[in-house]
Amino acid sequence: MLGKAHIIAHDFVGDPLYKIRRLILRTEVAREAQPGQFVHVQVAKGMDPLLRRPISIADIQREAQEITLLYRIKGKGTEILSEAKVGEELSLMGPLGHGFTLPARGELILVAGGIGVFPLLPLAKAAQEKNLDVSLYWGGENKGFFTSSGLDLWQEARIPVFLSSMDGSIGEKGNVLDLLKKQVGSRLNHGEGATQAAQSEVLSVAVCGPQVMTQVVSDYFLQKGAAVEVSLEERMGCAVGACLGCVCTLKDKVSGRIYRGKVCKDGPVFKGEEVLWDYEG
Ligand code: FAD
Repeated sequence: MLGKAHIIAHDFVGDPLYKIRRLILRTEVAREAQPGQFVHVQVAKGMDPLLRRPISIADIQREAQEITLLYRIKGKGTEILSEAKVGEELSLMGPLGHGFTLPARGELILVAGGIGVFPLLPLAKAAQEKNLDVSLYWGGENKGFFTSSGLDLWQEARIPVFLSSMDGSIGEKGNVLDLLKKQVGSRLNHGEGATQAAQSEVLSVAVCGPQVMTQVVSDYFLQKGAAVEVSLEERMGCAVGACLGCVCTLKDKVSGRIYRGKVCKDGPVFKGEEVLWDYEG
């Protein structure tokens, strides 16, 4: 769980303006990693910053014993991480967390907002291997963002991708929920006379992105009777469930009991209907 990772590649993805870097690591984590899990990376060689940084596993090459991380340089920790050189070693904890469920059959729709796309590729590849009907609906700022955030990885994997951009420079202009309503909504409302119960058996949805987007997409598909999973993001301390720095509020569907979940350990992936988004109790 705690180990060293050897840096195989470390570069910008596309235009450095978007500050997104790809880090390929040779690590034992590749053996066990599952879609939706993350690693906790020690970014500094010294004590500052002390806390590790959580980064999703964006690709898994089991035979080569490699994982890919894609991360946006955001603050001090990721800035320091961006200086790590090929050939150096990083200290990693992982694979951590509870990932996505691979549906047994049917259609899997992946929905991403911005860099929320990063944990979804391993799920898409696993679904493809199982011959599930899988596609990605991805919203972002503009064309430059997508080409600098690994769009080519999805194209190489031959996974159908539908884009929405805020400026209309690629895909549909607008947000990803509008895109979904347009492209998927009519099929869900009228498709082959399916009842809500029947749809829920065959349509699974996995969502990752900014909270507001994740919530509205989750609510939309829950209303359509789909099985929805959401990946949540909270600032994290220990990442193993001890410090309670990353709690979220959940509701048990059967008993109705409201309780606190740890994003690092119980999540980051939760069932959409269990998350109480704006709980103030
Ligand atoms: P800091 O200096 O710590 O913070 C810079 C700014 O970002 C501050 O405003 C701070 O409040 C905000 N911030 C920091 N962490 C978070 C967070 N977790 N959520 C919301 N705001 C935050 N990022 C990626 O680029 N790629 C990934 O694959 C990825 N996967 C993640 C998986 C999980 C389970 C979680 C919890 C987070 C993930 N993140 C990912 C976010 C990433 O961990 C943070 O961007 C990173 O820790 C920021 O560290 P920093 O030192 O650069 O920034």
